[in-house]
Amino acid sequence: MSLEKPMLDDAERAVLGRYFTNLDQPVFALRNLPEVVKGALFSRYSRTEKSLRQVLLDEFIQAPETGFAELVGAAPAAEDNLLATRRAEEFYDRVLVGYGDDSVAELAGAHLAVERVSTLAAKALQDSRIGISPLEKSTRYVRFDRPDAAGRWPYHRGPELAHPVYERALDALFGTYSDLLEPLTERVRQRHPLEPGESERAWKTATRAKALDLLRGLLPAATLTNLGLYGNGRAFEYLVTKMAAHELPECRHLADDMHEQLTQVIPSFVRRALDDRYGRPAAERMTRTAMAVRELAPAAAVSPDGPCVHLVDYDWNAERKVVAAALFPHSNLPLADLGAADVDRVLAALLSERGNRRHKAPRALEHAEYTFEVVANFACYRDLQRHRMLTQDRQVLGSELGYDLPPDLAGYGFDGPFEAALEHAGAAHRMLERARGPVLAQYAVPLAYRVRWYAKVSLREIYHLCELRTTPQGHPDYRFIAQEMFKRVREVHPRLADYARFVDLGPGDELERRNSERRLDEKARLA
Ligand SMILES: Cc1cc2nc3c(=O)[nH]c(=O)nc-3n(C[C@H](O)[C@H](O)[C@H](O)COP(=O)(O)OP(=O)(O)OC[C@H]3O[C@@H](n4cnc5c(N)ncnc54)[C@H](O)[C@@H]3O)c2cc1C
Repeated sequence: MSLEKPMLDDAERAVLGRYFTNLDQPVFALRNLPEVVKGALFSRYSRTEKSLRQVLLDEFIQAPETGFAELVGAAPAAEDNLLATRRAEEFYDRVLVGYGDDSVAELAGAHLAVERVSTLAAKALQDSRIGISPLEKSTRYVRFDRPDAAGRWPYHRGPELAHPVYERALDALFGTYSDLLEPLTERVRQRHPLEPGESERAWKTATRAKALDLLRGLLPAATLTNLGLYGNGRAFEYLVTKMAAHELPECRHLADDMHEQLTQVIPSFVRRALDDRYGRPAAERMTRTAMAVRELAPAAAVSPDGPCVHLVDYDWNAERKVVAAALFPHSNLPLADLGAADVDRVLAALLSERGNRRHKAPRALEHAEYTFEVVANFACYRDLQRHRMLTQDRQVLGSELGYDLPPDLAGYGFDGPFEAALEHAGAAHRMLERARGPVLAQYAVPLAYRVRWYAKVSLREIYHLCELRTTPQGHPDYRFIAQEMFKRVREVHPRLADYARFVDLGPGDELERRNSERRLDEKARLA
């Protein structure tokens, strides 16, 4: 059964038309809505299968208890808004031309919804680090096996992928995911029955999340997802140009769609994104450069390796640098004269008061940097790629590095069909790679297959990433990678690592979401 209504009726269109730049396309911008509603709507992307337009209708407009009518009543009428936008545009045009300062394009932004795009395209959109805040449908809370209105599994199809093997392979993956989800959820519930004092909601959500976590590796990189992007004009301009230069045709089409919708809400800011003077030539240069570098890149056959984290580079003098940077703002000496201080005492003064992981590590820790090379499954990469305060890049996703079988799956007796589906998909990928090339063949690779990427990370971000990503409710795959990253840092710089006290090196919870869901119930009780 498809959750998307095939079409909105006339009355619904009349209501919704005011709030979106279009009602029929997968890419659209939000307008005439208070900021708080736009934020709330985007936050729903992580938990719902519905389009954002349907969410607005079902959960705001038709739910009087949300106070939507009063909130929007306070907003100007659509026509006033359009007029105001046009006037502001004229003003911004004058400022942009007159000041010649690109940073004024950071002073206004837009909420852009991008629905029914492949996971690969979502990764490309989320590759922007400054000025864009994305939120995407979660593989942990949302099932991905709802067919579309035509009864087809939700994965990207395009003329570039027309090949008899492609649809057969992807249909088989979705078929296995769908067949296993209910029986696996049932087994999880048998092993972890409802406990006294636990709400049925918390138990059902935690057990379903466990089953979805175990099966997500079957989803191919072509799987369609929904995401919201909130960003400033300057960041959107660069994102559109980068997407226009992307090697995937899907991303290049998205560049045009995004540009068209953004032009309706922040035209001055995205004017150059695809113009003949700046945007197009910049995109063409990016494409040419990528091709020229690719021709020089060596390649050889590799054999599969398990998930691993190698520390390939670090700063031997990091302690001194961090200490000097910590003392610098409090001293009148140059950096070069501050490294001789007592490392233990300065680090204790700087960090020993941290009471929880939200007590951020200070800026001085950015003076120590670590370069990691990671091999892990693509689902894990998909999660960790979301960190922005670091430099990272990946290689093409393929099948040669092998795949991960979730260890718990064997305990539930479902490893056989899971592994068979991955093996078939691997063979299909190799066939497509020969027929369509490695870049397009990525679409057919299930998320359980491994990819290699590098991450150059400062110690400050190590604190943040490793403390956040090792919490016991996290997915075991990224917990493992974050734990390994932290161990590598601790091996070379024990004193610097010592104050990352909220990194959890324990085994994690077997039913990862159980405690979090119970805490949510507790919060709701106290609210
Ligand atoms: C348990 C869990 C569940 C998740 N579920 C989902 C989900 O369902 N859907 C989804 O899309 N994502 C999900 N995520 C990913 C999450 O939304 C973040 O994108 C990811 O964890 C990166 O965290 P970060 O932004 O704190 O870190 P980084 O990007 O590494 O940033 C480090 C810190 O810099 C600051 N910072 C960085 N950028 C900005 C900015 N633009 N504005 C202000 N401050 C900034 C913040 O203090 C931030 O903590 C989940 C993450 C976890 C841990």
